[in-house]
Amino acid sequence: MLTIIQLPVLNDNYIYLLHDGESGQTAAIDPAVAAPVLAALSQYGWQLSQILITHHHSDHIGGITALKAQTSCMVIAAAADQHRIPDVDRGVMENDVVAIGQHKAQVIATPGHTSGHIVYYFAEDGLLFCGDTLFVMGCGRLFEGTAGQLWASLQKLKGLPSETRIYCSHEYSQSNGRFALTLEPDNQALQEKMRWVDQCRTNGLPTVPSTLAEERASNPFLRTDSPSVQKSCAREGKPAVEVFAAIRHLKDRFNS
Ligand code: ZN
Ligand code: FE
Repeated sequence: MLTIIQLPVLNDNYIYLLHDGESGQTAAIDPAVAAPVLAALSQYGWQLSQILITHHHSDHIGGITALKAQTSCMVIAAAADQHRIPDVDRGVMENDVVAIGQHKAQVIATPGHTSGHIVYYFAEDGLLFCGDTLFVMGCGRLFEGTAGQLWASLQKLKGLPSETRIYCSHEYSQSNGRFALTLEPDNQALQEKMRWVDQCRTNGLPTVPSTLAEERASNPFLRTDSPSVQKSCAREGKPAVEVFAAIRHLKDRFNS
């Protein structure tokens, strides 16, 4: 079994530590900063063996150099992003396999938020570390890709097993859910999820991970076939990718 430690850092980022007791290997996913990772490693008595990076944004890579200097860990990131991520030892592509002890993760390319974004899917463990591609009740902004690209990327993730646990890199659930409710005010799964999210946040608790089943039921970016979602962006009966582009655009304006 992989032990997963969730470290809330910066405003709303999560760093994940994955520890395999059998091999003693420990991986950090998207270490935005080094200090909290080093503190957790010493608290648990673990040694950092790998860093896994989903994309090049500073709030995902800021801790790499300090961690590498102190632990000599191996840094893994998208081959396509090696020129803009420091200290990468191994560049990976779609379908490459990354292992923490015996626990294997498949690399899935998910361009859209950035052109080189990748996610790590541990099929046997039922875990998905999806960076800024899929969020609880939301999805990443389009910084480098097109709506069509991010749509295709989300379709790949939507096809994973229902029980897959979704570990994204930000705590954005509350604002995502508020927006989702403007599109589907009558969606009971969404209403329930939001009540739970509000309660968690009131108590200072994380709302991540989610599951793919919950996301399929509540995340409007995976629900472009919902008549209510289509109606709220005036795209009734339109192709899914068009509905997706329209609600992504609405969400950008909802935030600002
Ligand atoms: Zn990002
Ligand atoms: Fe981010």
